Amino acid sequence: MQATLIIENANQVVTPKRSSFEFSRTESMGELVIYENGAVAVGGEEILAVGPTQTVLAQVEISSTTQRIDARGKTVTPGLVDPHTHPVFFGTRENEFEMRVLGRSYQEIARAGGGIRSSVRSLRQASHAELLAAVLPRMQTFLENGTTTIEAKSGYGLSPEDEIKSLEVIREVNQRQPVDLVPTFLGAHEIPDEFRNDRSGYIRQILEIMLPRVADQHLAEFCDIFCEEGVYSPEEARLILTAAKKLGLRPKIHANQLAPGGGAKIASEVGAISAEHLDYVSTEDIQALFTAGVVPVLLPSAVFYLNLTHFAPARAMIEAGLPVALSTDYNPGTSFTESMPMAMTLACIQLHLTPAEALIATTLNAAMAINRGHLIGSLESGKLADLVVWNMPNYRHLAYHFGVGLAETVIKRGKMVYKKSPLLI
Ligand SMILES: [Zn+2]
Repeated sequence: MQATLIIENANQVVTPKRSSFEFSRTESMGELVIYENGAVAVGGEEILAVGPTQTVLAQVEISSTTQRIDARGKTVTPGLVDPHTHPVFFGTRENEFEMRVLGRSYQEIARAGGGIRSSVRSLRQASHAELLAAVLPRMQTFLENGTTTIEAKSGYGLSPEDEIKSLEVIREVNQRQPVDLVPTFLGAHEIPDEFRNDRSGYIRQILEIMLPRVADQHLAEFCDIFCEEGVYSPEEARLILTAAKKLGLRPKIHANQLAPGGGAKIASEVGAISAEHLDYVSTEDIQALFTAGVVPVLLPSAVFYLNLTHFAPARAMIEAGLPVALSTDYNPGTSFTESMPMAMTLACIQLHLTPAEALIATTLNAAMAINRGHLIGSLESGKLADLVVWNMPNYRHLAYHFGVGLAETVIKRGKMVYKKSPLLI
């Protein structure tokens, strides 16, 4: 086996132990495997070998063309996977941030025409080319923070042409830079202003025009809906997600974020791949998610950024056997961050995950939430070579040393795509 690249002498090479995923009460979050003085060998786009440096060096052929990275004193993990982002927006909302800092609530701002509806107005004014130019550079920040794959939702268009434009931009961004984008159609993110008095008219437009076009043009793998009091009801979620499923789009759902509701149960009923937020779920909801095999994607940075205090009951989920995943919820209103390590710190502090659980939740379990567990999320031969060399002595620092950029080198599909430049002294 000819290695094209080898990372060697790492203080730690760390990976989730499981290579694939099962809903299991005994091994829900699993364990990490840690190789001290570890190495990862890569051939083309794939991982060839992982283990102690001497063992890996004995397993592969190294030639003068093999790129070698000395990771002495550093830690290597799988590339992080962000399974819930809203990166297709035009213009930011720092004015709302300031209003919230001064005491207005998000709901007040939304009622006054801010929030998602404000992003919808901006996105509709942008051409495809303008939107592409805005979204493309955002991927650099994900890479700088160690994220190599994201799920990317539409949802700021809310009309057939603007939702299609958003999904086409996701497709083009995916082709033009290293981060992999997994597309989700979120036409049911809000009710657009022009349908304020005719919500069934908008839902008809989703069912009859948007979903068939998205499916026809293979623009999304998943269909999501914001199921919450004042947005979409559980019955509407059932209707839209069932129709999407018939067209080959797997359901996802924003559920139980701001109050208890029926969203988590609908996720189980329609066989969603994941249910997201879940800050207000009951024991019964957790049981239903387990039985139906739905991955819970938790977004503590959204709770933090909205200055709320009610975090998802992650420990109860883990004890029930659910494979908890974490995400940033990257969006311009309620969680403006690309940093998965920040989500890990919040998960440790507020959800009481251990640093090991937080790493599994941002790699393998996150990959499972977007149907990529067979390809990414752990380090083993045959999986894609998505790797991060972190400037830290052990994996616990990822959550422990918070709010700073620790990623030093990022490898995507076997190629170095980001390298931090050294201090100029
Ligand atoms: Zn979201």
